[in-house]
Amino acid sequence: MKEYDVVIGLEIHAELKTKTKVFCSCKNEFGSKPNENTCPVCTGMPGALPIINKKAVELCIKAGLCFGCKISNYAVMERKNYFYPDLSKAYQISQLVHPLCIGGQIELASGKVMRLNRIHLEEDAGKLTHISKSVGTLVDYNRGGTPLIEIVTEPDFSSAEEVDEFLKRIREALVFADIANCKMEEGGMRCDVNLSLKEKGSTILGTRTEMKNLNSFKSVSRAIEYEIKRQTEVLNAGEKVIQETRKWDDAKGKNLTMRSKEEAQDYRYFPDPDILPIAISEEDIAKIASEMPQLPQARRQKYVEEFGLPKYDAEILTTSKYISDYFEECTKLLNSPKKISNWIMVDLLKLVKEQEEFVFPISAQHLVEIIKMVEEKTINKTVGIQLLEKVIETRQPPKSLADKMGLLVTISNEQILELLQKLKAENTKVCEDYKAAPEKVVGFIVGYVMKNTGGKANSMLVKQLIPEVFG
Ligand SMILES: [Zn+2]
Repeated sequence: MKEYDVVIGLEIHAELKTKTKVFCSCKNEFGSKPNENTCPVCTGMPGALPIINKKAVELCIKAGLCFGCKISNYAVMERKNYFYPDLSKAYQISQLVHPLCIGGQIELASGKVMRLNRIHLEEDAGKLTHISKSVGTLVDYNRGGTPLIEIVTEPDFSSAEEVDEFLKRIREALVFADIANCKMEEGGMRCDVNLSLKEKGSTILGTRTEMKNLNSFKSVSRAIEYEIKRQTEVLNAGEKVIQETRKWDDAKGKNLTMRSKEEAQDYRYFPDPDILPIAISEEDIAKIASEMPQLPQARRQKYVEEFGLPKYDAEILTTSKYISDYFEECTKLLNSPKKISNWIMVDLLKLVKEQEEFVFPISAQHLVEIIKMVEEKTINKTVGIQLLEKVIETRQPPKSLADKMGLLVTISNEQILELLQKLKAENTKVCEDYKAAPEKVVGFIVGYVMKNTGGKANSMLVKQLIPEVFG
């Protein structure tokens, strides 16, 4: 039996986070009533003229900057002609010869570099809902004209794991930079997989198949595994893989022939005569670049190398830009990254884990104030957590709240010394034990003082004062 190398290329579509559609001013909104957000342009009425959404162009450029693409100074929107009921114009406005972003790359954890071919801007089609044979099919054009970016990769992937990691990198960057929501369950990010096998070590590529619109990380992985197995069986049986588009059925866990695959020439692309070419100056690019946030990968590196955090912490803290920004705001107020990380990961994240988009119920300033009080031992950690809950509940500043609630350590040195003297007088054994091996009874002595002060003494201070009485 022959062995094969797997060759995979991806086309990833992500809906851009704009208020309006890309070629008209209809709302770009998920979940509206069918055909509520439509107009003559996005329903393809004859003679309707498109405009172009500047924000969509900017977001596409921003995506290019995320992945190190070269940004074009000259880009052209083209018509991709095909008929389908969800595409009322019978052409999709897309880009072929002059895309907005060219090249780019993403490095995986293994160090393997995955090259991008391009990122271009285009529009989404409407949505068909097949009801039944007697009722027929319903069409909703709300999604028609929604701005999309298509990220096209080179065929650099050789496993489902590499694809999975890459898609997660793409998604986190697009979400972080506020380019797209990438809600896969709403179709906000979809992935087409081109896959072929070639004989191990050979440079001749095999025939590829395409699986379109995979809309979860899990189904991408399953579809790839299935197709590798299927093509291997076809080739091992001495047959040929047919170039085609295959539809992945996630419920059945298999794919089926959908149609023979079209090539670019089948679409008769040509520049859209209603939309002028887009000129992008270096100043435009510099302005967009200046608005880019630092991306998660760079932030993780900083957290590990500069802040000395474990990789695990760095991963969790960069799961959203909000958490990461919050964490960084805290570190600017208090230079104790690991302590801050612990508070966020252990005490804050559990409060918001049910939320779709995390928003902590306490400001960074107030959290840092609590952490400082614990560090300075004016309260202990347990009291700190109680205080955190109370601050969240009342929204009052921690210090004055702790004062009002009587949580602050208020025992003076004199009071501590007095208690130590009392213990010494009451318990001669402790004195003897202390002389023999101080480290063995320190805990007991501190415990005595804490018990007699309702836990309000500063334990560090007690330890410092013990030798004055017992030494
Ligand atoms: Zn419209």
